[in-house]
Amino acid sequence: MSAPPALNIPPSPSTVTVSIIDTTITVPFPASLVLHPIINSITQLTANAYCFLITHFPSNQTILFDLGARKDFDSNAPALVQRLRAFGINPTIEKDVPEILEEGGMDLKDVNAVIWSHHHWDHTGDMSKFPSTTELVVGPGTSTMWPGYPANPESLLLESDYKGRPTREITFDHSPTGLKIGRFPAFDYFGDGSFYLLDAPGHAIGHMCALARTTSTPQTFIFMGGDTCRHMGELRPSPYFPLPATLSPSPLSPTKTAYTTSCPSSLFLSLHPSSSATAPFYTLALDSKGKSLVCVDVNDAEHTLESAREVDAGEEVLVVMAHDASLRGVVECWPQTANGWLESGWGVEGRWRFLGDFVGEKEGEKGGVEAGEEARL
Ligand SMILES: [Zn+2]
Repeated sequence: MSAPPALNIPPSPSTVTVSIIDTTITVPFPASLVLHPIINSITQLTANAYCFLITHFPSNQTILFDLGARKDFDSNAPALVQRLRAFGINPTIEKDVPEILEEGGMDLKDVNAVIWSHHHWDHTGDMSKFPSTTELVVGPGTSTMWPGYPANPESLLLESDYKGRPTREITFDHSPTGLKIGRFPAFDYFGDGSFYLLDAPGHAIGHMCALARTTSTPQTFIFMGGDTCRHMGELRPSPYFPLPATLSPSPLSPTKTAYTTSCPSSLFLSLHPSSSATAPFYTLALDSKGKSLVCVDVNDAEHTLESAREVDAGEEVLVVMAHDASLRGVVECWPQTANGWLESGWGVEGRWRFLGDFVGEKEGEKGGVEAGEEARL
């Protein structure tokens, strides 16, 4: 086991309150388009999508990090709908995030800002349902893709997402003295160390992750990974957090195995492409030119993924990727809060749960993949 590089998160007594929102999206997707290799003949994966409600009490601000997909999928930009349909992508979306929030007792007027991890349809939701006072915050370069549809009939984005409301594009300081969390250039959103946006390029133009401080004693955090990876087998195991000899709790469904409380990891090592306890199960599927269907820049994407592995090394950080369906049933969602995740054991319970995907034990709950814009899907 290698010691991970220090993350150097500045100490702070300030925290935010975080709720995880399951945005009710389900998108079946062929694994081979984005992941390599095919493991144990698992060819079909299914994406879900998480987003986050964040409250900062000192400033009385409530913000969202991501929005999932809009409920009426066909009301996306026509060029996007056509592209996704042509690839047989048929998402099921039960509810908009605004609907979920209102059901939980929230007044949308109280949402000060929506931050997009990036501009893809399964993260941008339906901004038009928020009052015009709600600010839209995006990562570097996102606004270069505007105007959206209908001003630009070919655009994959929608003009209604940003028109008539305040917008802000985050700039990260890449200088040697700029703030960094691990390898990530960071932006201190509330100015008190409670919530950082992180520059995480590679998957899409302007892609950002976020880090919320959930408790100050001990210091715990939730890392909001966006689309840094599509499946946790791209992230884990790592040299910093190898696969242990025994997995407890067992990632296998108790209804289909004798391993009800724990199981030997040898069951999964035999499925690993290099039988390694320290290397991830998946890498990006690349074409003959070294391009990925789900990343605008493969080198940047791999650097961002490695940065996330360093964040994932510590027990004090709960990593939640947008499409990590293996956390369903582990984390409690809105209107519950997630700040007590360490005490509740979510990190331990969820860490190896994705391995269940490789034995087909959790039908309908296989890990998430991304139907990204760059896939031209
Ligand atoms: Zn996505």
